[in-house]
Amino acid sequence: MSDFLSTGTLPQEYRDLALTVRDFANQVVAPVAAKHDADHSFPYDVVAGMADMGLFGLPFPEEYGGMGGDYFALCLALEELGKIDQSVAITLEAGVSLGAMPIYRFGNEEQKQQWLPQLTSGRALAAFGLTEPGAGSDAGGTRTTAVLDGDEWIINGSKQFITNSGTDITRLVTVTAVTGETAGKKEISTILVPTDTPGFVAEPAYNKVGWHASDTHPLSFTDVRVPQANLLGERGRGYANFLRILDEGRIAIAALSVGAAQGCVDESVRYAGEREAFGRTIGRNQAVAFKIARMEARAHAARTAYYDAAALMLAGKPFKKEAAIAKLVASEAAMDNARDATQIFGGYGFMNEYAVARHYRDSKILEIGEGTTEVQLMLIGRELGL
Ligand SMILES: Cc1cc2nc3c(=O)[nH]c(=O)nc-3n(C[C@H](O)[C@H](O)[C@H](O)COP(=O)(O)OP(=O)(O)OC[C@H]3O[C@@H](n4cnc5c(N)ncnc54)[C@H](O)[C@@H]3O)c2cc1C
Repeated sequence: MSDFLSTGTLPQEYRDLALTVRDFANQVVAPVAAKHDADHSFPYDVVAGMADMGLFGLPFPEEYGGMGGDYFALCLALEELGKIDQSVAITLEAGVSLGAMPIYRFGNEEQKQQWLPQLTSGRALAAFGLTEPGAGSDAGGTRTTAVLDGDEWIINGSKQFITNSGTDITRLVTVTAVTGETAGKKEISTILVPTDTPGFVAEPAYNKVGWHASDTHPLSFTDVRVPQANLLGERGRGYANFLRILDEGRIAIAALSVGAAQGCVDESVRYAGEREAFGRTIGRNQAVAFKIARMEARAHAARTAYYDAAALMLAGKPFKKEAAIAKLVASEAAMDNARDATQIFGGYGFMNEYAVARHYRDSKILEIGEGTTEVQLMLIGRELGL
């Protein structure tokens, strides 16, 4: 079976981390993945296990309770988890790169001290509230408002499709809201909203096509009052700051997608070597072997794309285009591989308890969340001056 970690050129500490997460994914996540998928239940025990391993603190400094690693380390963990269970992987991805990272990047020292230790420990989750019924790809269409009243913001509006926003351990939602107008343009700012604030409601969870064990809710805000000091970053910079978070997040989603794509390859190699038809294993047919070879090529190419984007980001160089490319090719690799793997599994591939069936349902959102395929193409085109 293919194993990039044994043939690749990763430094030892990254390889060790990936192998540790791989063991956890195989031994702890895999046995309960089908059950949580079938029950649509949030995997609290698995999340506690990831917390014990320090995964929620991977890219943060130790002074905030983190592991002192970097964003690439997070990506490697997401790839290993994404192979086995995308719901678990997206819970970590959203918790770290959308939940805690905005506070680390844009918070003042007091906000970091208040929130990061609990978030990096994985004992609490924060969610990222950007999308609204009228503002998805066009996130500037935000209608939620925040008005200053003395030394408090009063927030009114709604958000939709927000990951990790309604679990028993969710403590915070960071929201974008219109805080005024500058030169005829909406001034959008980012505000921290603790989930126990009166007027904040996580509405009942969605009934999704996939990612059944990931927590996703619409949110409503009715005269929600939070201190003025809960403004995250500069007033009016909320939209720009969230776009920076999404640029990084695309590398993480690409890594998760590569995991999904590789998981489909691994399952298919195993099955094609076992399943017999017409007196031989189906993998002996070149039509099947070529299909799997193409799947492996997609996963590998997508992996090099996210490694490259992460390397640029860590080197402090521009990475917007490369992150968009990685997200584009990796999400397509996941979807294409999931479709091909399901075909290789025949009728079993259509049975929900099989991992490839889960990947088939789970992978579609990878082409939509954190910027659709079309948004990635827009970003790449813009970077080319088009
Ligand atoms: C399971 C799940 C989890 C999510 N988690 C979060 C979260 O934690 N936080 C958060 O803020 N959001 C979250 N989202 C929202 C997600 O990021 C949005 O759904 C996504 O950005 C697309 O926005 P939309 O759904 O409004 O689609 P729209 O923006 O309405 O797009 C509809 C279609 O039109 C296309 N389109 C739009 N504009 C153009 C254009 N100019 N050119 C070409 N095509 C275009 C799009 O590509 C798409 O195909 C989540 C969504 C899901 C389903």
